[in-house]
Amino acid sequence: MTDRYAVLGNPVAHSQSPFIHGEFARQTGQDLCYERRLCPLDGFARSLQDFAEEAGRGCNVTVPFKFEAFQAASSRTDRAERAQAANTLRREGSDWVADNTDGVGLRRDIEVNAGVSLRGARVLLIGAGGAAAGVLGPLLEAGPAQLVLVNRSEDKAHALVQRHADWAARHGVDLQARPLQHPGQAYEVVINASSSSLQGQASPVAAQVLAPGALAVDLMYGPAADAFLHWAASHGARPRDGLGMLVEQAAFAFHFWRGLMPDTAPVLRALRERVSGKA
Ligand code: NDP
Repeated sequence: MTDRYAVLGNPVAHSQSPFIHGEFARQTGQDLCYERRLCPLDGFARSLQDFAEEAGRGCNVTVPFKFEAFQAASSRTDRAERAQAANTLRREGSDWVADNTDGVGLRRDIEVNAGVSLRGARVLLIGAGGAAAGVLGPLLEAGPAQLVLVNRSEDKAHALVQRHADWAARHGVDLQARPLQHPGQAYEVVINASSSSLQGQASPVAAQVLAPGALAVDLMYGPAADAFLHWAASHGARPRDGLGMLVEQAAFAFHFWRGLMPDTAPVLRALRERVSGKA
């Protein structure tokens, strides 16, 4: 019988996950189907239960349910535990096991696809929502010299930093929270994990944060990311959108479900063409 997977979210119509996992399944010869499931904003738990009753084997979870997905699971990987949010669930008997693959996906996109080493680098992470919570732990594991977290609501940045203080110390990273208006300057890697691009804003921070030739990543992709990418390029940085992370986090999710790591490069190429309207 074909195994069932899905992405649960609200909204979910824009999700590229069915395309990505369809390509991974074809590439690895796995017999599975993958669908989008729109959940009512107050009905994630019910939707997840329905999916389980329909023999769902695993799912991705997107906005705004990553915290609820974490709560719904009866066991969690260490990285999901650290994030306190889950983007991937796997069915085991009558239970769900939670993982969070956002951070390892971003790290792989930066280090492998963009070819930028995080070890010893100075990194600025903007945002303290679900995405930032998911990526902070794996970024610290990469061993940057310093990681500064800034967020519009400063208390959330402080809480996230406090929660990761042990992990930062374990990996020898100088981890700090600073106000959004005083982020510091000349970072080699700048990551926009806020949703500022969704509101048409070019950047929530001043261009002084960019060292010459810095890698500037917006987790957003498609036309909404254009203003940030243009801002970064016009200040001498290397712009990168969130499509690479999207494909890489999906590959880690696929591995969590099927025990196989797909080749991401051809899928990222195909997705870029698809998103830019060329395919
Ligand atoms: P959340 O809603 O959980 O958090 C939003 C964050 O953005 C908060 O820190 C919020 O600050 C901040 N923010 C919102 N508007 C502004 C603004 N105008 N200026 C500065 N900060 C702002 O969203 P997520 O964390 O889940 O997602 C963030 C982004 O990451 C989205 O664009 C999402 O599409 C993208 N994403 C991409 C992925 C990928 O695979 N490429 C995976 C996951 C997410 P405050 O705390 O003050 O409200």
